[in-house]
Amino acid sequence: MAEMPFVNTDTEDEFVMNATSEMNIKKKRQTSTGREIEEGSESKKKKKKQYQPNYFISLPITNPEITGSVQAVQDAIIQQDQRLSKAMVRSGSLHVTMLVMRLSNEEEINIAAGALSDSKDFVENLLKGKTVELSFQGIDHFRNEVGFVKLAENDHRTILAEIAETMKKIFQEKGILAGEERAFKPHLTFMKLSKSTELRKEVKKIDSSLYEDFKNHYFGDEILHRLDLCSMLKKKQPNGYYYCESSIVFGEKHAAEPDDAELLSLSKRLVENAVLKAVQQYLEETQSKTRQTDGSPAKTETAASGSKNESDNDNTK
Ligand code: AMP
Repeated sequence: MAEMPFVNTDTEDEFVMNATSEMNIKKKRQTSTGREIEEGSESKKKKKKQYQPNYFISLPITNPEITGSVQAVQDAIIQQDQRLSKAMVRSGSLHVTMLVMRLSNEEEINIAAGALSDSKDFVENLLKGKTVELSFQGIDHFRNEVGFVKLAENDHRTILAEIAETMKKIFQEKGILAGEERAFKPHLTFMKLSKSTELRKEVKKIDSSLYEDFKNHYFGDEILHRLDLCSMLKKKQPNGYYYCESSIVFGEKHAAEPDDAELLSLSKRLVENAVLKAVQQYLEETQSKTRQTDGSPAKTETAASGSKNESDNDNTK
């Protein structure tokens, strides 16, 4: 994805948003922000002005079973045609694109980060505690220029499409130029000719026989855990993943809400401390009574050790 910058002419046919949706969204943006964020005289003149997205919502693919299998297909293809190594998507940046958008300045980036954050509640309401488990199987292509692993057609994929649709609405309602004309087709791209201008001149089509052995291969499952707002153009992270402006995480435990094991351990410590305190108090009272009768010195070893135990166990603070 990041290898398809809008400044790069070899990618101009990718991800375009038409002028009609652009105009509708811009109208909304004017009303929601009170001022026009991006308005060039050129864009007014050009009836069919097309915009190239520069940001996207990414669902990162990190299951080693999947990334390992993707690597295996890539290796098999490169073995047959060395030139295609330039077309391969690196393991660290494997993702499913949920939504593409055009963000023209810092203000729009902030609005988009807010829209992503708003999406979390909507998505969680949609999921109702269920997890989305995406199953990757088989290989397909777009125009023989992009090779991708397919997502199995099941309820999880349907929910993923609903999430993408909901997010598109949320972003558009905030005035962000988001989404495409074509229908959402979730996929895991592992190679695309547009990654290299030279390669694209040399190789016009990816021959499907190159990945014949993996045509129906099962790659593995990925649980939806995180969605990131990523830049297509900014320098990638050292791990190979995209530059992220913000993220939302699902199924995360809140720090303020301890789980059952933590509550059990906490109550055990409280009971132990209470018992120790009671024993210490009993010993002190008994000693004090003894002193009153025979005039012996104040503290005994037992009492001191009881006091030490208390401090050892007082780790709840
Ligand atoms: P991505 O996996 O999002 O990096 O997309 C890889 C390439 O696939 C991009 O060049 C997209 O323009 C192209 N692409 C994505 N979705 C579709 C689609 N539904 N039909 C045709 N091409 C697509």
